Amino acid sequence: MTSGSLSERLLQFDQKHIWHPYSSISHSGKVLPIKSASGVKLELFDGSKLIDGMASWWSAIHGYSHPELVSALTTQAHELSHVMFGGLTHQPAVELAEKLIQLTPKGLDCVFYADSGSVSVEVAMKMALQYQISVGKEHKNKFLTLKTGYHGDTFHAMSVCDPNNGMHQLFKEVLPIQHFLDSPQSKFGEVINHDHFKKTEDTFLKHHHEVCAVILEPIVQGAGGMNFYHPDHLSHLHDLCKTYGILLIADEIATGFGRTGKLFACEHAGITPDIMCVGKALTGGMLTLAAVLTTKDIEHQISSHGDGVLMHGPTFMGNPLACATASRSISLLLESDWESLIMKMEQQNREELNPCLELSGVVDVRVLGGIAVVEMKDTIDVNWAHEAFTSRGVWVRPFRNLIYIMPPYIIEPEDLTKINLAIFEVASLLSQKEA
Ligand code: PMP
Repeated sequence: MTSGSLSERLLQFDQKHIWHPYSSISHSGKVLPIKSASGVKLELFDGSKLIDGMASWWSAIHGYSHPELVSALTTQAHELSHVMFGGLTHQPAVELAEKLIQLTPKGLDCVFYADSGSVSVEVAMKMALQYQISVGKEHKNKFLTLKTGYHGDTFHAMSVCDPNNGMHQLFKEVLPIQHFLDSPQSKFGEVINHDHFKKTEDTFLKHHHEVCAVILEPIVQGAGGMNFYHPDHLSHLHDLCKTYGILLIADEIATGFGRTGKLFACEHAGITPDIMCVGKALTGGMLTLAAVLTTKDIEHQISSHGDGVLMHGPTFMGNPLACATASRSISLLLESDWESLIMKMEQQNREELNPCLELSGVVDVRVLGGIAVVEMKDTIDVNWAHEAFTSRGVWVRPFRNLIYIMPPYIIEPEDLTKINLAIFEVASLLSQKEA
């Protein structure tokens, strides 16, 4: 079979039988068969290549098929590809936990492995609920979160996603009802406006007796709107949590491992949350794995109540392939000059994307660390954008009115320029369409 006809066959079957994220099979959008990926390039079946601006949704920070990650994975596959974690342990799980404890904010000393970001959010929420039960506060069983947030697609995770742009309407009969704070008003890099704190304080005053934990994405709200907010909002919420005996869960699934310019976004505010979720870039985008970290105090407290067990235990918990790959990915990151790579990417994105501000259809351009966003006035037709970007040799997939990128850290400046030029051209075309 020629590569052209193989590609056709894959596409035909795919479009009839396979769901893609947030999609319909019957009205399938554009889908592109990818043959392979290496470095920052995705290769199509006709041999052409796309420069990747998405790092496969924040995960492939070292690019694709990094030889060291491939080697960590294959070496581990020969040794121990999987074994149940109930009653057994292994070197990859222990070594990764050692690294995570060392790397994350001080005080997070206990690790739970989960199989995806959403599952880690479920586990973090269970942990917080079990903690409150163990201190005799079972009435504290609601979560408080920020509007325009996103925490995953499982049920409790959905309940703390933005109530308007999340899936609340569709599943409102079954979703638990939570409390919401307005999304933080003062943006990253702006002067803080303390007036905004008053409403937050009022909400704590009103609901603290029933709130178990605050869950939030520190500094960068991703899929809920790509907002970058002032670190003082985070420290303020951290202080309020302490005052009212409420736990703070930091969802660092998107922000972790350097993406915002710090290893973890909580570092921008100098806080240690009570519970932290990491995922996505944890394995450098090679395999699915997430982890929940918490303090010894919280672990002791949960352990001291009832059976003392944390009620979760997925089949593939602590999968050795994923843990070994994650360990190597973390070493790669720490051995690299990631801080300066991210700083340079931030500077280049700022210089190359700020001209978009002159386009009539553009509302805002914001850049932080290795993330850049061009916010348009109107919703973008994703199928049109798919064509517009791929025909320019780049892989950028907007959502709603947001064109955004978070390329692999290893991207060369020339490739980043190509992505940014394509963004400018696409934003220009969209501005003309909107005019
Ligand atoms: N939290 C955040 C902040 C995320 O960005 C995501 C993924 N987009 C999730 C949770 C859910 O992770 P997963 O897709 O691995 O379930």
